[in-house]
Amino acid sequence: MKETIESSLAEERVFEPSEDFKARANMNDPDIYRKADEDLEGFWGDLAENIDWFEKWDRVLEWNPPHSNWFLNGKVNASYNCLDRHLSAKGDKPAIIWEGEMENTRTYTYNELFYSTCRFANALKELGVQKGDIVTIYLPMIPEAVIAMLACARIGAPHSVVFAGFSHEALAQRIENAGSKFVITCDGYYHKGKLIDQKEKTDMGLEKTEGVEHALVVNHTATPVNFIEGRDVWWHELEKKVDYQCPAEHMDSEDTLFLMYTSGTTGKPKGVVHSTGGYLVGTCITASWVFDLKDDDIYWCTADVGWITGHSYIAYGPLLNGATVLLYEGAPDYPEKGRFWDIIEKHGVTIFYTAPTAIRTFMKWGEHLPLKHDLSSLRLLGSVGEPINPKAWLWYYENIGGKRCPIVDTWWQTETGMIMITPLPGITSMKPGSAVRPFPGIKISILDEEGNAVPEGQGGYLAIEKPWPSMIRTIHGDEERFIKTYWSKWGTDIYMSGDGARIDRDGYVWVLGRLDDVIKVSGHRLGTMEIESSLVSHPAVAEAAVEGKEDEIKGEVIVGYVVLEADVPVSDELKEQLKGHVVDEIGPIARPAAIVFAEDLPKTRSGKIMRRVLRAITNNTDPGDVTTLQNPEVVEELKRKVHLSD
Ligand code: ATP
Ligand code: MG
Repeated sequence: MKETIESSLAEERVFEPSEDFKARANMNDPDIYRKADEDLEGFWGDLAENIDWFEKWDRVLEWNPPHSNWFLNGKVNASYNCLDRHLSAKGDKPAIIWEGEMENTRTYTYNELFYSTCRFANALKELGVQKGDIVTIYLPMIPEAVIAMLACARIGAPHSVVFAGFSHEALAQRIENAGSKFVITCDGYYHKGKLIDQKEKTDMGLEKTEGVEHALVVNHTATPVNFIEGRDVWWHELEKKVDYQCPAEHMDSEDTLFLMYTSGTTGKPKGVVHSTGGYLVGTCITASWVFDLKDDDIYWCTADVGWITGHSYIAYGPLLNGATVLLYEGAPDYPEKGRFWDIIEKHGVTIFYTAPTAIRTFMKWGEHLPLKHDLSSLRLLGSVGEPINPKAWLWYYENIGGKRCPIVDTWWQTETGMIMITPLPGITSMKPGSAVRPFPGIKISILDEEGNAVPEGQGGYLAIEKPWPSMIRTIHGDEERFIKTYWSKWGTDIYMSGDGARIDRDGYVWVLGRLDDVIKVSGHRLGTMEIESSLVSHPAVAEAAVEGKEDEIKGEVIVGYVVLEADVPVSDELKEQLKGHVVDEIGPIARPAAIVFAEDLPKTRSGKIMRRVLRAITNNTDPGDVTTLQNPEVVEELKRKVHLSD
């Protein structure tokens, strides 16, 4: 049997960016899609002109599936392209506006960012870092995180940023996997008003792994820390000793720019390797066309620099475009739940990029919070990380964007490096919940198990058929896993994303979530995301997750975990109502066998539902390692409740 995913949640409303927006957009030529398809190499070759090369490449692409080389023999430097080349025209323009959790602000102009980066780069050299050494960065959302990345790039040392909120074990694992001899960390940072002792976590991590020669420590909170003589060095002390001039290394286009470990939602994190030239070309153009970055924009992406979104769309993409980037240290609810809206008003943010999980949280907190603030500076909104359900999309559109801002729902992955499926606000219209259309030059298809295209409208595997410049080059130290994970389902020239999707009759792409999130009920394959979206569309529901529970007769039955909106009382009647609501929206086959009211759902640090944990809770098996959960305490609570619902 050719397996497809049944999909019947449809959202037909279409929204258009204003004529004015389209007319002024960086990219508003609808023919761009056709042009890119007709001459893929010509298309990417032209876009490579947006990057300054020390030596121009002599060929756009060499494709030996699944290995790609882009811009062959080109010599380039990422930090040079983010900094040096902007100095003559934009030296005094703010590059980073940093908003600290304690409402303190710091601004770096392009000149200042350049000098700080050069000194940081020289400090790294002073410590013995050489071209090719992988440097682990374990810093919170402070300007030094971006400076450290650019400094590594400047001297040709690939960086590996580990999310600051991760435990010392997670740090140790990643240092070890990367074979890092150098770690950049800080004394501490504030999170929701609490001082986090980052240096202590670093020390504990370093006890668990060998081979780290030096830790470079940024003084951020002026808290006393334990120093290990010979190993630990203060950045502010070394800074005084080093020169401010540091020429950018001429890197080969295919030299590694960084490693990024995936969030680990589905298994052991993979050290995704990205190279330099192609990554710069891909992130530069997507930042320009998708976010429509203009010289006077204040752009804010709320992701953490520890995720790929922070790499591509806080650091590299916007800085390559010479944009002003807002960087926020803290949490959305500190000191109060209106903090994000306060920041937008305070800094006049024009472009705002966040995740559906955050949007659903804001919905739960209520629209009175954004309504208290002047958000009229906003002109474009973005979403990334998970499928955004139509209810959340519409809430975002109305309450944050004032019905005037287009929303770009951007689908991409750590492995893709750049945005792959997205509206282009100067060209395409939008349907709430759809990521709309592959970026020009990106060829996707929806396939079944055997690699055949599924009929129009049906769900299947989201595959990518042609190489793209910022694509993953390998998994660090595990080429076999690289091939097995992405390039072996249908042959080495088709990328398997692991997500499901369908394309509707108007050509809009609907990402259905991960394929391992499919529940099989009586032979029907249903995507968890659609059932979740239908639950969330009920007015009483703020958030939902569904999981399959093994069942002797049906194979699996559906258990729905539901977080209710504030002040909605729980009742058995509501459970029945919700089951009926899913039946109305999707059909009887999707009727949940049980509904569990939860306070919270098990989530990763990046706010995604940790599927394997939910699956284990539902089926009463061992959830395994839960240390990278944001909220490990929910596991026991949910286990108890599911058991009671039997
Ligand atoms: P791991 O691969 O380690 O399990 P992860 O897939 O969560 O972790 P990321 O690379 O950060 O790590 O996330 C990419 C995934 O996020 C995509 O494969 C997709 O499932 C989801 N995603 C991202 N953006 C969107 C979007 N706009 N719509 C739907 N899903 C999205
Ligand atoms: Mg993934």
